[in-house]
Amino acid sequence: MRVYLDNAATTPMATEVIDEMTNVMKAQFGNPSSTHAFGREARGVIEVARRKIAKLIGAEPKEVVFTSGGTEADNMAIICAVEDLGVTRVISTTIEHHAVGHCLNGDQPFKVDYVRVSDTGRVDLAHLEDLLQDDQKTLVSLMHANNEIGTLLDAEAVSALCKKYNAYFHSDTVQTMGHYTIDVNTFGADFLTCSAHKFHGPKGIGFLYVSKEVKMSPMIQGGSQERGMRGGTENITGIVGLAKALELANTDILEHQEHVQGLKTYMMAQLIARIPGVNFHGETSPDKSLYTVLNVCFPPFENKSMLLFLLDLDGIASSGGSACTSGASVGSHVLRGIQADINRPNARFSFSRYTTMEEINYVLEIIEKIVLAVPVG
Ligand code: PLP
Repeated sequence: MRVYLDNAATTPMATEVIDEMTNVMKAQFGNPSSTHAFGREARGVIEVARRKIAKLIGAEPKEVVFTSGGTEADNMAIICAVEDLGVTRVISTTIEHHAVGHCLNGDQPFKVDYVRVSDTGRVDLAHLEDLLQDDQKTLVSLMHANNEIGTLLDAEAVSALCKKYNAYFHSDTVQTMGHYTIDVNTFGADFLTCSAHKFHGPKGIGFLYVSKEVKMSPMIQGGSQERGMRGGTENITGIVGLAKALELANTDILEHQEHVQGLKTYMMAQLIARIPGVNFHGETSPDKSLYTVLNVCFPPFENKSMLLFLLDLDGIASSGGSACTSGASVGSHVLRGIQADINRPNARFSFSRYTTMEEINYVLEIIEKIVLAVPVG
């Protein structure tokens, strides 16, 4: 049996998405910037997709800027805040995705303050408020859900603090778009980011939601595409796939949540029952934790450094830390950031609406075999 439990790294594309993209690939090859009929048709397809996406997140179409994915969108938000909005200080955490973290730890013309996080990855809101009292033009950049440990941000509380202290708010919503209903009006951020491949859409396409109050100049220079905010001929098939995937994800979203949360709760309970000493990194309760992610901290066992490899040998795809770092010798910056015991083996299992109970039961059986194996000799 082969079981894919690495959906926080990427998800398989939905057939409906592939079909829609294939139709567009066959029918539309015009350059959306061309003024002739081929171009106008392609432009029409993009604008229909943009309107669909905007409606799903309660935004205006002009607030949706297509990008090559989550990384570009995160970079764009930070660069725009500094270059266009005059931000001189960014408040963030040490457990952000590298798409944000690496924009903050170079030789940059702004100060960075790190807000404290708890040992489950919760942002310390009192510390955030303390930091915000220092009167400088600030961007608060805090991810909505941590991709490694699943801990959720209280976005509305952060938004209220940002409004109180006149700070801009960016949230990396790459792991939550398509998994929760996101309405930009209640979320209250100036920037949100999205990546289609995290919810059964294609890779290499995403968007930056940028509030209409923000005037943004392009990070990628070129033509005047995306209303002058991002140069380059649009990825029309990707855009169509993104819109379709977000639409599908939002259809029956509560049933998807209930199904996946059920699998996660079951897997946690079974692990506790079967593996003495097991526990979990990050928050675990449904209201504080992303329902698609379960980061398991195993007791030490023979071959513990081979855990992911042994799971893979039995057909199970999981990861340790994020996909970008698994396999590399550097440990997870997130686990370090929450001061987890990094000597204990860990694996992140991440689910999708296509994951089944049969698959979870198979994974539990294999985990038990690997972790409780009696050492030979
Ligand atoms: N932000 C988070 C939280 C992610 O999990 C990822 C992907 O792993 C990204 C950003 C980057 O998105 P993309 O792969 O579309 O560049």
